[in-house]
Amino acid sequence: MDTQYNATVIDKIMVTPDIMIFKINTDEARAEFEAGQNILLGLFGYETRSSNSEPELVPAEANKLIQRPYSIASAKSETRQMEFYISQVKSGQLTSRLFNLDTGDRLYVGTRISGLFRLDETPDGTDIVMVATGTGIAPYISFLRSHIVERPESKMVVIQGAAHRWDLGYSSELTFLEKTYANFFYVPTLTDADERWDGYRLCIEDLLRNDTLQNEFNISPDPERTHFFVSGKPEMVSHVSEWLLGFGYTRHHPDEPGELYVEEF
Ligand SMILES: Cc1cc2nc3c(=O)[nH]c(=O)nc-3n(C[C@H](O)[C@H](O)[C@H](O)COP(=O)(O)OP(=O)(O)OC[C@H]3O[C@@H](n4cnc5c(N)ncnc54)[C@H](O)[C@@H]3O)c2cc1C
Repeated sequence: MDTQYNATVIDKIMVTPDIMIFKINTDEARAEFEAGQNILLGLFGYETRSSNSEPELVPAEANKLIQRPYSIASAKSETRQMEFYISQVKSGQLTSRLFNLDTGDRLYVGTRISGLFRLDETPDGTDIVMVATGTGIAPYISFLRSHIVERPESKMVVIQGAAHRWDLGYSSELTFLEKTYANFFYVPTLTDADERWDGYRLCIEDLLRNDTLQNEFNISPDPERTHFFVSGKPEMVSHVSEWLLGFGYTRHHPDEPGELYVEEF
């Protein structure tokens, strides 16, 4: 057993063969963090890769700890048990090894939690729009689990784009939140849905350009009133950011607060 490993897998839920909800327990509690932040997960190169992985683009060195950042999906109050939403890059170094782990297996979890993609830096009372594709939904799950109760005066909307219904991770939790909180709205949109899907069928960019937020929820792309979080595939993040910059949005930075928060992965 490697001494650098400091956490244990406590649950692994396969959403699809290449997407999983992954829960770990760290040996020592981490410092308090903010919803939306990320932490490093790591495994050594000698670990076995998953059976449905593909040859590595860059072969990992056996005795090197492969480390990558992952957004924490669990609530900020949980400083030991953490949940992640991870997509397998079949030719990747770390995810192909993470997907081969089972409950009880050990891994490395970083000791520092960082990241500027944080809901707590938005002013109270502003409406919050959270846009995601793929595993980009993870930080919003942490936002909602941590803060939805505290912000009844803000309208909060999650727009989740995917190809198929089964790619909509956390949809039952998001649907439940929508039924429970009058200020929360969940807008899934599928680009390749079957005939049974009666929701939106647009890519996120078109859904926004069609004024869906204004028409459905009276939320406008106005930097004074609405803060946007955009997380997921770089192409979507760049298109949505460009659209928002056209309305006068600026990228958030702690030294220069803005109304647009982006995270690409
Ligand atoms: C702040 C932050 C938060 C993140 N949070 C998450 C998260 O919550 N869930 C999650 O699944 N990932 C997340 N990522 C991405 C994660 O850090 C890894 O980059 C990803 O899991 C791939 O790691 P790998 O070692 O398997 O692939 P690598 O060995 O690093 O990559 C192999 C090849 O695949 C390409 N590649 C890398 N990522 C992707 C991808 N997503 N799709 C297609 N090709 C890719 C690379 O360019 C490279 O050519 C986050 C990244 C950042 C920066």
